Amino acid sequence: MRKERVALVTGANKGIGLEIARQLAQAGIHVIIGARDEGRGRAAVDVLAAQGLVADYLRVDLDDLPSAEAAAIRIKAEHGKLDILVNNAGIFDFADGPPGAASIDAVRRVMEVNFIGTLAVTQAMLPLLRQAPAGRIVNVSSSLGSLTLNGDPASIYYSQRFIGYNASKAALNLLTIQLAEELRDTPITVNSVSPGFVKTDLTGRGILTPEEGAKCPVQYALAGEENGSFVEADGKTPW
Ligand code: NAP
Repeated sequence: MRKERVALVTGANKGIGLEIARQLAQAGIHVIIGARDEGRGRAAVDVLAAQGLVADYLRVDLDDLPSAEAAAIRIKAEHGKLDILVNNAGIFDFADGPPGAASIDAVRRVMEVNFIGTLAVTQAMLPLLRQAPAGRIVNVSSSLGSLTLNGDPASIYYSQRFIGYNASKAALNLLTIQLAEELRDTPITVNSVSPGFVKTDLTGRGILTPEEGAKCPVQYALAGEENGSFVEADGKTPW
């Protein structure tokens, strides 16, 4: 068994996830690129290798839950534990929208991936996180998942009516709260971390680069006395 800290980052083949993987690898963590497509996952490993960084690939598809169980079996065999789980994979669907008009299929897809898929990956990895001396779970959330900001007419997020996406991130935040409580007697911490508004394929626009957006999730993946919180770069976000 290897001794170094091991991290699994889901949706790590591009965007914020690839940057989280890169920054964790730079910090000396043994990174596993979780991706649903083998070609895209291995291409990400090659991108990091070209920068002198070593990473592995494992197929983790949030739409195919046995893939998470198979990944856990592989991680157990090779490492015996998992120190860091970054639940980054997520989707946005343009057929989403306000409650009165959003496509139900789109809402279901977004909830399935962003919430149920993430919950299932977390359950699959939990026994391995329990084997680590100080497990860290980072749920990559969004200010759009803040019930407080959704209900605050003064908030810049007030007008962003995506019932599926926003509900999926609010549900993810509930996972953070309940899991942190469930694990309170263990060294594992669980936090929701918002990367900010990042220009990726998911948004098509944004203020931050993926490199900038990855910084806060990486910070909480590496350290973190914080537990059961919803945070972003400039402090705590209201639930
Ligand atoms: P992105 O560039 O579109 O990357 C999304 C990643 O998730 C890709 O690797 C994608 O893989 C993967 N993914 C999608 N469905 C999956 C599935 N079923 N199983 C496994 N992986 C899957 O988007 P991003 O902006 O970096 O988003 C990363 C996370 O940050 C998401 O959870 C998003 O909600 C969150 N976030 C983003 C922003 C922002 O401003 N960008 C703000 C707040 C929160 P494929 O390449 O195979 O599709």
